[in-house]
Amino acid sequence: MSLPNPEELVAWDHAYLWHPFTQMQEWLEQPPLIIERGDGPYLIDVHGRRYLDGVSSLWCNVHGHRHPKLDAALRDQLDRIAHTTLLGLAGSPSIVLAKRLVELLPPNLTRVFYSDAGATAVEIALKLAFQYWQLRGETRRTHFASLTEAYHGDTLGAVSVGYSEAFHRHYKPLLFDCHKINPPHVYRWERQVDPEAALGAAIGDAEELFELHGHEIAALIIEPLMQGAAGMWVQPVEYVRALREITRRHGVLLICDEVATGFGRTGTMFAIEQAKIEPDLMCVGKGITGGYLPLAATFASNEIFEAFLGPYAELKAFFHGHTYTGNALACAVANSNLDVFVEERVLANVVQRSRQLTERLARDFAPLPHVGDIRQVGLMAGIELVADRRSRRTYPSAERIGMKVILEARQHGVILRPLGNVLILMPPLCIRADELDRLCNVAAAAIKTVTGA
Ligand SMILES: *Cc1c(COP(=O)(O)O)cnc(C)c1O
Repeated sequence: MSLPNPEELVAWDHAYLWHPFTQMQEWLEQPPLIIERGDGPYLIDVHGRRYLDGVSSLWCNVHGHRHPKLDAALRDQLDRIAHTTLLGLAGSPSIVLAKRLVELLPPNLTRVFYSDAGATAVEIALKLAFQYWQLRGETRRTHFASLTEAYHGDTLGAVSVGYSEAFHRHYKPLLFDCHKINPPHVYRWERQVDPEAALGAAIGDAEELFELHGHEIAALIIEPLMQGAAGMWVQPVEYVRALREITRRHGVLLICDEVATGFGRTGTMFAIEQAKIEPDLMCVGKGITGGYLPLAATFASNEIFEAFLGPYAELKAFFHGHTYTGNALACAVANSNLDVFVEERVLANVVQRSRQLTERLARDFAPLPHVGDIRQVGLMAGIELVADRRSRRTYPSAERIGMKVILEARQHGVILRPLGNVLILMPPLCIRADELDRLCNVAAAAIKTVTGA
């Protein structure tokens, strides 16, 4: 079969696809940009035009596209086997990967449960936490707690703890209740309050919840250091540490969702390293395969693991699995991903590029009259655009200001994806200094053009 030409692809996309997180009416008004190839931090469309991948293909690409080592690892595994089940059988790539992951984690996290998306990794953490307390006889611990505007994925359990009014209101009757605490989000909520007071208020909020309800809560789930999909809300490490201390005091499990922050994004392999905490459960996804294949993992403490042990007839086992759990191709490329982190000193590059990004954000974005706030941890940054800087008045969502900025940037060869009025810069961790400069130049120019400043 000959390859379809670009016009056919446009027609077929419009005829047959339903795109994620997309108003299809809007989508069908324009021909889509169709990507055909990749090359390092670049995406190349069906007409051969090159674009810098400024959001790492939705936050998952790590070492660039078509990295020779990752490609070779995948081909090598393909010569052995693509997939075999982990139900009743084991497979070498998933075994090796589990050992290597545990060696990177705090000593209390000793077990790896695989799945295939961030959302499934979160579902698994929630179910493990829930069943753990049932097995331990603390059967009243049936509730969860999470942070306001948290995002943990789009399956129903993940939506229950990561509720967003705009995205999820139709499903409300299907969701379980979840206690919410307010993180120290200085810019939107704590007007005229300094970061220290906001931190105190947020910790006080958590103390109050757990004083009242701690005995009936199974787990608190957080995105440590940076709430990504909320619009890049930064937390000081003190906040993460305080939540660990408070949950421990009330016997509540702490789940860290590092689906976005994991694998070097924040400058350390995992964000929890900066807060120096040990969660009871942890979820990873996105960067685990370097952005190549769908794979995710939930890490559990030995204490949780042991609660599930017993004779089969007691039915204590964790009855959960997916057809592609521990997929061999995905685990092989994930192993190679870990090799490249070491061989190419990736974390050192992240630290250097993060500093460069901090400087560029302060110099070229902060002075723009419609930039209200800038929030950054490592190579994750959010630039909040506002209609009026003094009053922090937001642009109406119908104005699609973020979308306009990214379409402008696209004209200049940079692919971005906004979160509402927040422009996200999240390049692959392999990005070079000159490429990061270009990303910043194009993004700043696009903001100026669109906001008329
Ligand atoms: C992206 C994301 C998820 C969901 O991951 P999927 O692979 O899209 O299901 C969960 N949690 C966080 C923090 C994320 O950023």
